Amino acid sequence: MPEGDAVHRAAMSLQVLAGQRVEVETPHPRAATKGLADRLDGRLLESVEAVGKHLLLRFEGGLVLRSHLRMSGRWRVGPRGARRSGRPWLILRGDEHEAVLWNGPVLELARDDGRVAHLGPDILARPPDFDAMLARFRAVSQERAVGDALLDQRLVAGIGNMWKAEALWQSRLSPWRALADVSDEQLRATLETAHRLMQGRLEGARPLHYVYRRVGRACRRCGAAIRSYPQGENARMAYWCPRCQKGGTEPRA
Ligand SMILES: [Zn+2]
Repeated sequence: MPEGDAVHRAAMSLQVLAGQRVEVETPHPRAATKGLADRLDGRLLESVEAVGKHLLLRFEGGLVLRSHLRMSGRWRVGPRGARRSGRPWLILRGDEHEAVLWNGPVLELARDDGRVAHLGPDILARPPDFDAMLARFRAVSQERAVGDALLDQRLVAGIGNMWKAEALWQSRLSPWRALADVSDEQLRATLETAHRLMQGRLEGARPLHYVYRRVGRACRRCGAAIRSYPQGENARMAYWCPRCQKGGTEPRA
């Protein structure tokens, strides 16, 4: 088990990257859901410090990445571009070196004041905090469409466009239904379904798509033609069955 001394050794070896702008990748799917690469890629890594069993990586802009190795995590620092097999959680790539985190069960981004930076509860936490997610969904405008809200990482972190579409189909909810017209039970069931589908995928289940990228094809439940239309600020494509996913005002075809 990695103890404090292992964390301190990791901090020492990571010093070769301090003071550099780093390229950031998160090859492991559980790490990818955290959106770390988007937030950190290209930033200056200001310092690396071991605090107890935690490794704190401070980036410009007041962002702190906290890594705890638990039982199985390990950091490896080597020459940039070294060959490897498998999918590490995190790669920080500097000019000549790269640091690779394997099995990093605790990896979160915080502000300098320690608060996690605006991210909602993680859909892949074990177990996920569905109550906290529900509270966040109810704290925003209830005129928002449920399909739009499910992609808002401040409400729940980690649900992507495909799982949003599939979870709403399973729950028979139109992505266009306003939050005001979605009960707590329906919202919770949708979040639980997203968790179950994503967890299954991590454990190797092959996803069967019911609506995602099935525009014009027959709904596997009712036979109606699947529709798609861009939704939300970022105009991500929503997919739904207009017959068996109810509610809301659908965009015209
Ligand atoms: Zn249908």
